[in-house]
Amino acid sequence: MPAIGFVNGTFMPLEQATVSVEDRGYQFGDGVYEVIRTYGGTPFRMEAHVARLERSAKALGLPMPYSNREWGELVAEGLKRAEFAESKVYIQLTRGVAPRDHAFPAGSRPTVVMTIRELRPLARAIGEAGVEAITLDDIRWGRCDIKSVNLLANVLARQRAKEAGAFEAIFVRDGTVTEGSVSNVMIVKAGRVITAPEGPRILSGVTRSLVLDLARKEGIPVEERTVVLEELRHADEVFLCGTTVEVLPVVRIDGRDVGTGKPGPVAARLSERFKQAVT
Ligand code: PLP
Repeated sequence: MPAIGFVNGTFMPLEQATVSVEDRGYQFGDGVYEVIRTYGGTPFRMEAHVARLERSAKALGLPMPYSNREWGELVAEGLKRAEFAESKVYIQLTRGVAPRDHAFPAGSRPTVVMTIRELRPLARAIGEAGVEAITLDDIRWGRCDIKSVNLLANVLARQRAKEAGAFEAIFVRDGTVTEGSVSNVMIVKAGRVITAPEGPRILSGVTRSLVLDLARKEGIPVEERTVVLEELRHADEVFLCGTTVEVLPVVRIDGRDVGTGKPGPVAARLSERFKQAVT
């Protein structure tokens, strides 16, 4: 089955999907995006993703080209065409095509791109064994709450992690843990789940929000507050959460064991509850 592309209103096989070299997303990173995955073929928390896309677009002064209902219909149409058991939907909205000049061009039309690819979930064994992470200086800009296509710092960080044989890079800004290059980060200390608060230093993850709700429902105390690097180093457990990683225990950070060096009970419980909630 082919992966599907969509450019400005038209579906096509992905390999035929192209945009102009003068698209501002390409030249300036002047755009925003979302990644939505399916469970049982149905887009997961579509409304939350579209709401975040709208927030990101608004922060850049980009008009939303479609209503919530229209986004829903487009994604459903793409999924129908792709026919994968599970899919990963990428939506990108840029300021469109214009002669290169930093200031906004007059009268440009946003470029809307969507790709639908088969989703290959992380191997179960990875979740069961947990992953390694490294910490890195958070050199990103001051509006990490905007899901912007400017991902250079994230790209460099994930590459550094890969070269170190780790799965994720955890960003640290002014001595505090912000998030991962592709995920939010939570620690567990004395039975409490603690994670950085929403704000300009992190992307407010759709998964983060669900995991915190699940923790509260389980009676696990939750703290959304600044986490200092020392707390990360001495946490009982650390786990990542995000659309692609779901709930993923971190068992080593910068070459040192987290807690016992094995996935802990709180992450395991939340991972189980998460699986129940999405299926
Ligand atoms: N933080 C960053 C930097 C991300 O790139 C992502 C996911 O792409 C997340 C957090 C998690 O967000 P979500 O749960 O909405 O996928």
